Amino acid sequence: MARPIVAIVGRPNVGKSTLFNRMIGQRKAIVDPVPGLTRDRLYGVADWRGREFTVVDTAGLDLDTAQDSSRAAIEAQTRIAIDQADVILLLLDVRQGLTPIDRDIGQLLRKSRRSVIVVANKADSPTERHLAHEVLELGFEEPSLISAQHGLGVGELLDRVLEALPVPEAAAASEEAADRLAIMGRPNVGKSSLLNALLGDERALVSPTPGTTRDPIDTELMFDGVPVVLVDTAGIRRKSSSRDRLERYSLLRGIHAMERSDVVLLVIEAPTGVLAQDQHVAGYALEAGKGLVIVVNKIDLVEPATRKPAYWRMALAGDFKFASFAPVVTVSAKTKEGIGSIMPAALEVVGQRRIKMPPNELNRVLREAFLEHPPPSFKGRRLKVTYATQSSDESPTVVLFVNDTGLLHFSYRRYLEKKVRERFGLSGNPLKLVLRSEESRRSRARAAK
Ligand code: GDP
Repeated sequence: MARPIVAIVGRPNVGKSTLFNRMIGQRKAIVDPVPGLTRDRLYGVADWRGREFTVVDTAGLDLDTAQDSSRAAIEAQTRIAIDQADVILLLLDVRQGLTPIDRDIGQLLRKSRRSVIVVANKADSPTERHLAHEVLELGFEEPSLISAQHGLGVGELLDRVLEALPVPEAAAASEEAADRLAIMGRPNVGKSSLLNALLGDERALVSPTPGTTRDPIDTELMFDGVPVVLVDTAGIRRKSSSRDRLERYSLLRGIHAMERSDVVLLVIEAPTGVLAQDQHVAGYALEAGKGLVIVVNKIDLVEPATRKPAYWRMALAGDFKFASFAPVVTVSAKTKEGIGSIMPAALEVVGQRRIKMPPNELNRVLREAFLEHPPPSFKGRRLKVTYATQSSDESPTVVLFVNDTGLLHFSYRRYLEKKVRERFGLSGNPLKLVLRSEESRRSRARAAK
């Protein structure tokens, strides 16, 4: 199910990324950090009191506006947040009081009738707090006073965020029945061309009654008789609208689409190859528990020798080390070469999400892995797994009950993951290993009695 989205908006230097890091940092890392991608993260999954939501730092999210701190750029970011987020945090610097830009953003947000929490940051000491009254002029409820840097008031703020989140709804029937794919990628890599090529495939039957989907921005189709939803096709088609050049391509919109999907088709173009932003999108998709297919488009523009998936699997191995299990397909939206390989690859990845790992088999695989290569000892203690079981999460997740959750080393985690994958496949999907203390299992068993 899609996680709700919480967007942080505000002018530069009010502390958006500090707050972002605080909110994300509250979460126990269940997915290893993607090396090199943690530094300038702009979105991530937060977990507070057992509820997960996605937090987005809107500043710098879009390439066009990243360096642009003009009022127009900030307003564009705010409008996108209004469009795509469930809850918006308007961040202010309480020491500076309200600036004209703060007031502009406030006005945009008030008109939107979105769920907004005003957050007065840099309230490091009580003497700064009296300045908060000015913030009430914006016309929202009491601001949350915090110091993102010192972590003051962040817990209370997160409680408020939880209250403001939409009530989780049961997945609609269509959402459960159809496999949901999101096409993502930088501007001009050929997303909309690919969309048209996919819809033009003779095996794809687009639903003739638009509006049968819960969301009119999606496209419903049958592919070889399998129901599929292409998520936010309206966003892919919508381009160079006259409304605002700054809003033409929005990562936040993409993140929203990603959250509503099972599998992300990450499109890159052969002539340019991989940019950091592509790695970010792939890393985030995996962190969000989504399946991933890498689609290399525009192969008509490169030498025939460099058009094959095998070539690209090698060429991309370094850039997507953390996603080595993702299938790679090579296509040309222009000549239609390879187009027919996209949907089967995507549906295969969806299928791999549903793999059941029988407990006997899972525990046998892990026992053997431990025998073959015992975990290193740490301060004289060694990790022991008493029992492993697959959890019912949407993406493949294995829960390990262990003697001490602090004893799993990063590289040993990788090793165990590899062993589980060798046995069960899970191609194209992240595998989560969640550690629980043996203690928790015993107390649960007692409670069940
Ligand atoms: P989007 O911004 O990702 O949706 O990209 P578009 O689908 O609008 O494509 C951007 C440009 O690349 C357009 O000029 C397309 O005609 C061109 N394009 C898309 N796919 C291909 C391809 O496979 N080969 C070539 N040569 N050009 C392509």
